[in-house]
Amino acid sequence: MSMMRGGRGRDRGLSPKDTGPKAKFKQLWPYLLEHKPALWAAVALSIVGAGVNLAQPLVVGQVITAVQKRTDATLIVIALIAIVLASAVTSGLMYYVLAKAGEGVVRSARHKLSSRLLRLPIHEYDLRRTGDLVSRVGSDTTLLRAVLTQGLVDATGGALIFIGSLIAMAVIDPLLLGLTLAMIALAIIAIAFTSRQIRSATTKAQARVGDMAAAVERALSAVRTIRAARAEARESAHIESDAENAYVQGVKIARLNAYVTPIAGIAANGAFIVVLGVGGYRVATGETSVANLVTFILLMFLMIRPLGQAFGAYSSVQSALGALARIQEILDLPLEADDEVKAGVSAQRNPQSEVAIEFRGVEFAYAATPNADGTPAEPNAEVLKGVSFAIKRGERVAIVGPSGSGKSTTFSLIERFYEPTAGEILLDGQPVHTLTRSALREQIGYVEQDAPVLAGSIRQNLLIGSPDATEEDLRKVLTEVNLLDVLERDKRGLDAEVGEQGIMLSGGERQRLAIARTLLSAPPILLLDESTSSLDGLNEQMMRDAIDSVAKNRTMIVIAHRLSTVVDSDKIIVLENGQVIGVGTHHELLQSTPLYKQLASSQMLD
Ligand code: ADP
Repeated sequence: MSMMRGGRGRDRGLSPKDTGPKAKFKQLWPYLLEHKPALWAAVALSIVGAGVNLAQPLVVGQVITAVQKRTDATLIVIALIAIVLASAVTSGLMYYVLAKAGEGVVRSARHKLSSRLLRLPIHEYDLRRTGDLVSRVGSDTTLLRAVLTQGLVDATGGALIFIGSLIAMAVIDPLLLGLTLAMIALAIIAIAFTSRQIRSATTKAQARVGDMAAAVERALSAVRTIRAARAEARESAHIESDAENAYVQGVKIARLNAYVTPIAGIAANGAFIVVLGVGGYRVATGETSVANLVTFILLMFLMIRPLGQAFGAYSSVQSALGALARIQEILDLPLEADDEVKAGVSAQRNPQSEVAIEFRGVEFAYAATPNADGTPAEPNAEVLKGVSFAIKRGERVAIVGPSGSGKSTTFSLIERFYEPTAGEILLDGQPVHTLTRSALREQIGYVEQDAPVLAGSIRQNLLIGSPDATEEDLRKVLTEVNLLDVLERDKRGLDAEVGEQGIMLSGGERQRLAIARTLLSAPPILLLDESTSSLDGLNEQMMRDAIDSVAKNRTMIVIAHRLSTVVDSDKIIVLENGQVIGVGTHHELLQSTPLYKQLASSQMLD
């Protein structure tokens, strides 16, 4: 989230899932195959379960015959009880095995998603809404579980029971079987028709849940602004309308599912009544026995249950495919890749090079957000138009210029969050695209403008980039940025929570904490995007001291909003409208560059 500065792009209403392709059933397989042992166990259990279930009606028939013939039925009754118990145990076990595998499917989808979500190309975050991404990890994944718990393997067992009953019923009374099947066929046609609609409604419902999560995230991330603007009611109405949309889709799914249950019920009851009527008549005329009729009816119920389960399985698979489409959409996105370097051309940096960072004719435009209907948008205007400059090793350089002139974009390009559309960027004389991103970023410390503090303790905040730093290291960097006194504000010291639940940090302190974090990994090059938030005199002095102390022994580039922090830089680069319009020291620029003089006089520095 921190990458999406100031909510840029966050609210562009992109909802690709409405138009995106539907997931195919075969895309579910990889998830299921991860649980092969569980699947085999479940298949074995379902075969045993089918066997004991099928035995029940036949044994009941035996009991009736034994009673009619007044022979001893004790053994058969004991067998019946054993069979009933065995059926209960297998179905319990099978439920557990499948539910566990189902949780495994959810877990592996979450692993894949969360790992990918942190590694997408940066421009994807510009285009997508954080809340929607969160909801894919949290909510969509849970729908995959049902595929196993009420899904496939259950259906395998069901199929066995279905076929077994069918054969037994055909042997006992083919005419009654024909009548039963006719009723069931009608139900199948009706239900197949609704299931298609369930899938599409689920995709829509999950998309609406994603919208809602995005709206909540949007509101909470700017809750102070919303309060100050007294916009709570409008924002919560916004969220409610998303919740309402999710509700409408949810109700639609409920309605579709509701059709399925009574249709199956009518088929079952209809079959029962017909079989009872016709069968009763045949018993009366002596064409069949009571034992046969009872066995047949029990078999019929046995057959109908898995049929109902199969419909349930079908509709939960449809729901899962809807959710899988949203999961797969993210998994199919490319990773931030190092294609060029993979071929083994990874060039060595040249530590002897005089020049630490160089831009040669760099041009860049941000990728445009596709239109709501998915068609490509007009390309964005160029943000950098042929930018060239060179920064020597150990130099302290400032980039200044009006807001929107492209200053932060130069940093993003140095970090390779984006690639230039033309020109080249070099690190130690080496084109950055010949280095792995990891090797490049290892050389560079980057302090973002909004200097995010992550939820957690001061220690956790510092250790993000250097998990092995010692207590002593932490205190040293905090001293360097003048932040040691923060530790005195809470008796837990480094382990005090920052943010809402603990120590509140001012804008300047947050940024100094971010600088401290960066210093821990001791990068030879430091990029500092100075906070735009206004600092009071004391904070500003502290900031300047912090910058002075960290500028020693490293190359440092500062995007400066207050010229006072950079007047004594070795070099100042003036950007205007994506072009370098002046390079020099403060005094040189006052002479050569009118825009700089103007900036300086507005800040009373000329
Ligand atoms: P500065 O740091 O000088 O204020 P930026 O480099 O942040 O300027 O922005 C330069 C231009 O690029 C601005 O017009 C801004 O709106 C645009 N821009 C910045 N970030 C993005 C982005 N992620 N997507 C699209 N446009 C962007």
